[in-house]
Amino acid sequence: MSHIATLIRPSLLKRGCSLAFSSSSSSSSSSSSSSSRSLHLAPPFLIDPPYLPAYLTLPQSSTPLKRASANSHLSNCNLCPRLCGVNRYQTVGLCLTGATHVTVNTIAPHFGEEPCIQGHNGSGAVFFSNCNLRCVFCQNHDISHPHHSKKTGFELTPAELASWMVKLQEVGKVHNINLVTPEHVVPQVALAILEAREIGLKVPIVYNTSSYDSLESLRLLDGLVDIYLADFKVWKPETAKRLLKAEDYPQTARESIKKMWEQVGDLKFTPDGIAQRGLLIRHLVMPGLEGEGGEIMRYLAGEVSRDCFVNVMEQYRPDAHVGKPSKKKDGGGEKRYAEINRPVEKEEVLSVRRAAEEAGLWRFCDSPRHDGFNI
Ligand code: SF4
Repeated sequence: MSHIATLIRPSLLKRGCSLAFSSSSSSSSSSSSSSSRSLHLAPPFLIDPPYLPAYLTLPQSSTPLKRASANSHLSNCNLCPRLCGVNRYQTVGLCLTGATHVTVNTIAPHFGEEPCIQGHNGSGAVFFSNCNLRCVFCQNHDISHPHHSKKTGFELTPAELASWMVKLQEVGKVHNINLVTPEHVVPQVALAILEAREIGLKVPIVYNTSSYDSLESLRLLDGLVDIYLADFKVWKPETAKRLLKAEDYPQTARESIKKMWEQVGDLKFTPDGIAQRGLLIRHLVMPGLEGEGGEIMRYLAGEVSRDCFVNVMEQYRPDAHVGKPSKKKDGGGEKRYAEINRPVEKEEVLSVRRAAEEAGLWRFCDSPRHDGFNI
């Protein structure tokens, strides 16, 4: 446990938002226990406890296939749209991550997520080092934008990762295992989940992704993941090219998010207010890009689901390469990515929210209308 405690990094505890839903002390009709809470949710969004995570209902007979698929992806890597095609047992691709291990920066109960994810005891976060995107504003850039020469964490085999998951559950009493920035280590994660279920894991798996995932990767995760906690960052390819260094991000995110929803559906809760299964979309509103945020909301409502649970996030701040002096010789004091070198304005956030509501979305991660505790 001391290992868990000492691994917490303050810079990583800033994600998340205010409140997922309202609660009251009175019980809903489906629940008579005095400890139950009414979430004012339509029955389709409530799950009768106990919830059994997807990996516990996966037939044992499909395990060998999952394992074989995980290993084969690593020998000719197509796990994300970078399509490096490298044999990761021998070398590394853009994400600088091999096949036999994952690099982990932090493992800890985490209290910076949405209330329905973190609950009272925290979300069991595993922050992976390295990434397959290169967002110029990345708020975790010191661990996500690696250099060959610099170690950004410690290495774990899938079996070791599995035992950390169980430790988070048993010692940390967390509500779920939250895999943060896992796109480039999906096979190792799949193997770890299969291993963890053999040694007693029983909490849901949260796949906390940029949505820059390949469909092959999502196929491997099908039946292993309960909650997709998915970013949808920008809408236009030219913006994605400039700010994420991935022109195909918007198209990929559209396809990936649709596939995620097909697998797990809209976000659902047990009566204690903890999310157990479904899709939760995060959109970080960017300075001057509220129009793209609006497009994203219209896409979610029109092409995914009007019941999509959405967190419109307002905590953007310049970081990483944004605002650094220009590298041009004749830069003359110019700042890099000057167009996003400021916090986001309230009106920009409201504009995205209005677009979402006009499109028909209605399930937001909002603050409570009372001063009480969130859940
Ligand atoms: S996961 Fe890594 S090696 Fe594989 S395609 Fe993506 S960036 Fe390349």
